Amino acid sequence: MNRLLTILPLLFLPFSFLSSQTAYLHCGKLITSVDEQVLSNVTVVVEGNKIMEVRKGLVPPPAGAVLYDLRKMTVMPGLMDMHVHIEGESNPRRYEEKFRLNNSFVALRATTYAHKTLMAGFTTVRDLGGSGVNVALRDAINQGFVEGPRIFTCEKSLASTGGHADPTNGVRDDLKGDPGPKEGVVNSADDAWKAVRQRYKNGADLIKITATGGVLSVAASGDNPQFRMEELEAIIAAANDYGFTVAAHAHGKEGMKRAVIAGVTSIEHGTYMDDEVIGLMKEHGTFYVPTIAAGKFVAEMAKKEGYYPRVVAMKAAVIGPQIQATFSKAYHAGVKIAFGTDTGVSFHGDNAREFVYMVEGGMKPIEAIRAATITAAQLLRKEDQLGTIEPGKLADIVAVPGDPTEDIKAMLNVGFVMKDGKVYKNESQ
Ligand SMILES: [Zn+2]
Repeated sequence: MNRLLTILPLLFLPFSFLSSQTAYLHCGKLITSVDEQVLSNVTVVVEGNKIMEVRKGLVPPPAGAVLYDLRKMTVMPGLMDMHVHIEGESNPRRYEEKFRLNNSFVALRATTYAHKTLMAGFTTVRDLGGSGVNVALRDAINQGFVEGPRIFTCEKSLASTGGHADPTNGVRDDLKGDPGPKEGVVNSADDAWKAVRQRYKNGADLIKITATGGVLSVAASGDNPQFRMEELEAIIAAANDYGFTVAAHAHGKEGMKRAVIAGVTSIEHGTYMDDEVIGLMKEHGTFYVPTIAAGKFVAEMAKKEGYYPRVVAMKAAVIGPQIQATFSKAYHAGVKIAFGTDTGVSFHGDNAREFVYMVEGGMKPIEAIRAATITAAQLLRKEDQLGTIEPGKLADIVAVPGDPTEDIKAMLNVGFVMKDGKVYKNESQ
């Protein structure tokens, strides 16, 4: 035993030595996201997985340090998408997949989605609903077995019976069963406590609820309220006890209003948000995660015969095109907006299209970038570690060619990706 104790520090020595590698990043332009400034000719010093210094000018690296020449690029904090579904991706056979695919296959396939996400510059995502593969994928990435973004996941979304995230919607009667809180289906305050505790047990990082109907479920309404106030209050109380934030999918006004009053952290989609809901969100400090990209994608796919079941296509055609206008209204009213795409509903790796839609909707490019960095970090309550380029933060850093504050489309071509101090992509040369 004594001998083991003396050897132990030696065993760890090579690893701690490797992780203290120093890197100098020469940035032609730098967006720190601390404020709205774009700095020119700046050096960011990274040691191990931490940002150590932001220095004026292009400082020559000392011997032994690695230099990344990003002088033709705009460097910024790693991008953060606050609404993805990392386990799956849109395809016309999606509705049969749950009868055919084993979770082991779903997991292996999801590793490619995680990789595409990271290569697109998204070093952190919030996964808002899957089957539990999301939890395993998060852990595999964190342990270095798979390349992908940092994942914060809700595991399985919570719904009421027949609600948007009831896992047996549209299933043949003899296979329907009667899912309960263990499967994320809640019909009372007690069920709500059990469902939240089950997510805690299953390893979730946060809670997601479907406060109203939704587009892609095989159910008639895309916007009806789907929880009673007492159920929502129980979910929030349980989430508070376990330190979870709560994300609420919502299209219709009544369900959105109830969710905001009950105290959810964010409203997702928010399609039929009106002035009253906007006022409540500002009063309660609720974040808005618009997912314009998903709205546009489903509206487009709904035009293809047979891509979605008929009941889904009808909802997609009506709800999808509304979201960008809602985004503009909420933005001009001063609601806190965090970047989110609902990717999985659309194709992984295309996340940055949301930037283009946000700017089309009236937001300044620098504000859209802040929505995907510091504001997203605040929504996750991880702003002490993520979201800006400042000494002490984790070294999640990306770069795009040119200047995205002049042409937001530059965000579609992320050419440098560092996560946790490790470089995954470097097209700077
Ligand atoms: Zn979603």
